[in-house]
Amino acid sequence: MTTSLQETLKNIFGYTSFRPHQQEIISAIVAGEDAFVLMPTGGGKSLCYQVPALHRAGVGIVVSPLISLMKDQVDALTANGVAAALYNSSLKEAEARQVLARLHGGQLDLLYVSPERLMSDGFLDRLKDLDIALFAIDEAHCVSQWGHDFRPEYVQLGRLRDLFPGIPLIALTATADPQTRTDIIGRLGLTEAVCHVAGFDRPNIRYTVLEKQKPFQQLSTFLKGRADEAGIVYALSRKRVEELAGRLAEAGIKAAPYHAGLSDRERQQTQDAFQRDDLRVVVATVAFGMGIDKPNVRFVVHYDLPKNIESYYQETGRAGRDGLPAEALLLFGYGDIAISRALIENGGNPDQKRIELHKLNAMVGFAEALTCRRRVLLGYFGEHLEEDCGNCDVCQSPPERYDATEDAQKALSCVYRVGQRFGMGHVIEVLRGSRSQRIQSLGHDRLSTYGIGKELSQDAWGGLMRQLLHLGYLEQDVGNYSVLHLTARSKPVLRGEEQVVLARPRVRVVAKKEPKRG
Ligand code: ADP
Ligand code: ZN
Repeated sequence: MTTSLQETLKNIFGYTSFRPHQQEIISAIVAGEDAFVLMPTGGGKSLCYQVPALHRAGVGIVVSPLISLMKDQVDALTANGVAAALYNSSLKEAEARQVLARLHGGQLDLLYVSPERLMSDGFLDRLKDLDIALFAIDEAHCVSQWGHDFRPEYVQLGRLRDLFPGIPLIALTATADPQTRTDIIGRLGLTEAVCHVAGFDRPNIRYTVLEKQKPFQQLSTFLKGRADEAGIVYALSRKRVEELAGRLAEAGIKAAPYHAGLSDRERQQTQDAFQRDDLRVVVATVAFGMGIDKPNVRFVVHYDLPKNIESYYQETGRAGRDGLPAEALLLFGYGDIAISRALIENGGNPDQKRIELHKLNAMVGFAEALTCRRRVLLGYFGEHLEEDCGNCDVCQSPPERYDATEDAQKALSCVYRVGQRFGMGHVIEVLRGSRSQRIQSLGHDRLSTYGIGKELSQDAWGGLMRQLLHLGYLEQDVGNYSVLHLTARSKPVLRGEEQVVLARPRVRVVAKKEPKRG
């Protein structure tokens, strides 16, 4: 009489097929495994614990931070005939008693609980005597101070893994940056959990990076090629936003500025005009974004380098919501890196600076990538594409490739020789035989790899090692000064069993191909 997952999907939820990854996640949980699920909002996370709760004995306990969301979910489940209830401070006493009676009577498939209720001693005692199908922690980033919505009451949830061994624990979030991810996994004790990352790809967006040369001219050329399309141009400062919007308007393009220094009314007007297609281009700081719900944004241009990949992904993600082809163009200037770096150095506490610098470096890595940009972008979030995307500038005009095995071996063995305890800058200094005080006092001038890479410049080594990172021959420790480690892929290279093919850097990326018209 066992029902298949497929039947549950159809009979209870009314859907004909699982979305990519849902079935794999659900099967793992049904089999009793922990899971960490990273999917964008709307990706379909709820089914990932609702279906297994119906396929395992006992009640599935779901932790969620927002009472209104709990209520919506419970109503929807009840309408589908699932025995679901919620237990939080919004209940009247009689209602609460009734929920507890159903819980103890084994009549519930799913129970939604607030974190503080769940972790109260009284409630945990109750659970000890019950069959529990699973624990699901929704909005799991709330447990991390690196996330954008830290909630102290989530911290207690870290005890669940120890209190209930053997019962699957599933954490779900849409917040993808690697720091938050590592932090969630650590705090919830999910070290054995399989990470499932899915749904971040936006295949209709084409990513292009041009070296910033005469940026206004580059922008004008880009806009000329797409006369009746609307889009957003992001710039870093209010001043630059004003100036750019002014110049575009002078050039006869319907453009308006948007930043936090404008009045609420002005901002609202701009947003409305853009929404109604009365305005073609909004030139904006990062302040523009919340609440734009315009499906036909055809392009997003970054006039300056974004601070991190998360922002870049979110901002470019405002293009092409209608699913039609859209463009993301980044103008990448080396000067911008220095500006961003200085901004970070001047503020924040040391921990924060370290994280922000790491994130900035990852952004630079994306801009410099010589491999498929979508792979780099999604790889940062932990999602791996099987193949190159065919819809980015690198895929469409690929750089020349060469056998870089020997250089890769030098770099990897140097990472090994310094004990996998140093970052890229240091490894390059050793390779190039730097005479710095630090190298000498560490005794790194006596390593066998000292000075074996003099023939390449510092930049060339940097570019080469970033490629090794993107391709998985090296890993960078996020929480610890970006220290470089070898990976399983490094060993065959070091043993001479695998050839490493890298892309030859373009000496100067000239404003070559105009992006194809949509
Ligand atoms: P998330 O929690 O990731 O933001 P939800 O679980 O609320 O997303 O799902 C978003 C929407 O997608 C919901 O309307 C849900 O019913 C729908 N959905 C989820 N999985 C499927 C599926 N396999 N087939 C069709 N629709 C689905
Ligand atoms: Zn690509």
